[in-house]
Amino acid sequence: MDRPDTAKIIGTAFECGIVVPGFNIPYLPMMEPVVRALRDCNSFGLIMVASLEFMKFEAKSLKAIRDEYEKVKDERHTRLHLDHVPVVDEDGRRSDFEKIIGEALELGYESVMIDGSRLSLNENIDSTAQAVGLAAGKVPVEAELGAVLGHEAGPLPPYEELFASRKGFTSPEDTFRFVRESSCSWLSVAVGNIHGAISAAGRQKEKPHARIDLTHLKLLRDAAHIPLVLHGGTGIPKEYVKKAVSTGIAKMNVATAIRQPYERNLSKGVKAAQNAVYETVTGLLKSEFSIENSCDILTK
Ligand SMILES: [Zn+2]
Repeated sequence: MDRPDTAKIIGTAFECGIVVPGFNIPYLPMMEPVVRALRDCNSFGLIMVASLEFMKFEAKSLKAIRDEYEKVKDERHTRLHLDHVPVVDEDGRRSDFEKIIGEALELGYESVMIDGSRLSLNENIDSTAQAVGLAAGKVPVEAELGAVLGHEAGPLPPYEELFASRKGFTSPEDTFRFVRESSCSWLSVAVGNIHGAISAAGRQKEKPHARIDLTHLKLLRDAAHIPLVLHGGTGIPKEYVKKAVSTGIAKMNVATAIRQPYERNLSKGVKAAQNAVYETVTGLLKSEFSIENSCDILTK
């Protein structure tokens, strides 16, 4: 069997209007049930870790995630992705993004994300181009433009206000320039989607039911001409997901939807928490994303 790389898989998903979900793993035991659910549904997905997950949660380290991945991976159904490496993090600190991305590449991560979305357009282009240089054409680099809110320490303004004002939405003009000058492979956009809260106080709160501005998304797709990524996939109604996927979204990140059932069931033991993750992922694959048997097209 040919082993298509992640660039090829996401490219096919983009062309065929299929979504590849990326599952964040803030606790190592969450990984096995995610892989099992993908296999049982004959679906394809990415196993991901973001740097804040080994700093603020219990994913431990890039290496710990990679080692766990080597134990449970199934190459027909999964690839390993490094999610959010912010140039400036949610607490306003500069991170050593080159070191983190360099380490991930050495460990065998098959795609990486650089997040310069808190920077000015020019600085975001420069940092992203640097990350693309590090990846040297070997693995795809995802970048972010616009403000996908939710990781901030303070409370968010009311969701409807954000949506109506398009505050923080990715600009089509900036997108056109950004993609060409940074040479990123995929672009995470802000079109009404929001991240789940990660502050200790907000972690178990229900996420607002986000919507997607499909008219705006279409403008971004036409400006970018590369696969688009939707972060904050939890809580977006199914009909929006479907339309977003046919409007350029090839990858959708899922974090809160699987983290909350894991944390909620932990008091009953790790096994019960893992079962909750398995059930949730199976439900997402079959229902929200409708991607049972996506492997027949993506990694056939
Ligand atoms: Zn994100």
